[in-house]
Amino acid sequence: MPPTPLPRQSPDPRWTSSYDLLLKLEAQHLDDDRSKLVAVRLLGHLMHEIGTNDSDALHRAIIALAAPGSGGDEVIALGKVYLRSFVSLFRRSSRTPAPSEHPSRDHETSSTNELKPGTFDHHTAKRHALIRDEHQCCVCSAYDKASTKMSPEVGKKAEERFATAGQTTVTTDAVHIVPERLNCGITTFAEFQGDEEEGEVISSLLVTENVVPSFETKAHQSSSVYAVFRAFGTAAILEELNGQAIHRLENILTLCIQHHQDFNDLDLWLEHTGVPNEYRIQVSVERLRPKGSASQPVQTVMLRGDDDSLPPPSVGYLALHATCCKVAQKSGAVQYLNDIDDNFGDAVMDARYVSSSAVCDALIQSLEVMPCRN
Ligand SMILES: [Zn+2]
Repeated sequence: MPPTPLPRQSPDPRWTSSYDLLLKLEAQHLDDDRSKLVAVRLLGHLMHEIGTNDSDALHRAIIALAAPGSGGDEVIALGKVYLRSFVSLFRRSSRTPAPSEHPSRDHETSSTNELKPGTFDHHTAKRHALIRDEHQCCVCSAYDKASTKMSPEVGKKAEERFATAGQTTVTTDAVHIVPERLNCGITTFAEFQGDEEEGEVISSLLVTENVVPSFETKAHQSSSVYAVFRAFGTAAILEELNGQAIHRLENILTLCIQHHQDFNDLDLWLEHTGVPNEYRIQVSVERLRPKGSASQPVQTVMLRGDDDSLPPPSVGYLALHATCCKVAQKSGAVQYLNDIDDNFGDAVMDARYVSSSAVCDALIQSLEVMPCRN
């Protein structure tokens, strides 16, 4: 999906002044600094994408930072905070695929009574997600190869699928909708002591509401991730997915390796249709659209689950991932970050594992010398 210029019209008449500033900055940086253009477009497309009420905090932050004669540097810095704390959080490049986890042999007999958020690890989550998802990829419905070997019943269904539709079995992963890095990539104000400008940018997001978080994780309260999530009205997610709760079934999808990579690359996302558990599959380019059990392109899927023992994937978590995919594609952030991967290779992969904001910042800042490609 090529980068899309910001629509000329503000998404809300009340935000015209801040949106006009973004339009001005977009025109100003159209041909010079790619990182600034991406940052500005990211903010503008976010204002269009997220709901009116949710955008209030973002709008107020832009207004607070738009000092007369500032040249928009602080607003651009705000866009870069969203690039790092929102887009880079959800984007898990296929250069570093997550390890595949296979269900253990007792997956058919394990009790689901242990399904309490925060009480099981990723491996246990995978076993229960496979049962909930009936041992199939949530997107293309292909059967999980390991499950067919351990369960004669699943093996028989997979044989029937192959005989009638020619669909083969696949290796699947338990994919976090909101990534595990949510809990390990937290950065505190203390880390921003050497960067006064960014500290002010994040403060502008945090002071826009007088909401005191109910949880006690101080790092969360003062982090850029927290500031960004609160601007969306979704700060409660940090509490819901804190620690081991990141593996709760509402945050897990069973996906085959191909669709796992597309989901992580922000090339594939699910949009709720309004019908319970029904989602429209969206892809960045049509050639990535999944083929289903009848080899036909898949337009919608019904996710499985019940509210008691095996809860379905969360509408809210999937909406957050979908918002990230859309604004990252439209703003050009996906291609921009792909170019970081191509230019810095192993250094980027190392930075992901150490989750050092300083290292990631240095890499992003070094991209500011790259030519503009809009
Ligand atoms: Zn699949």
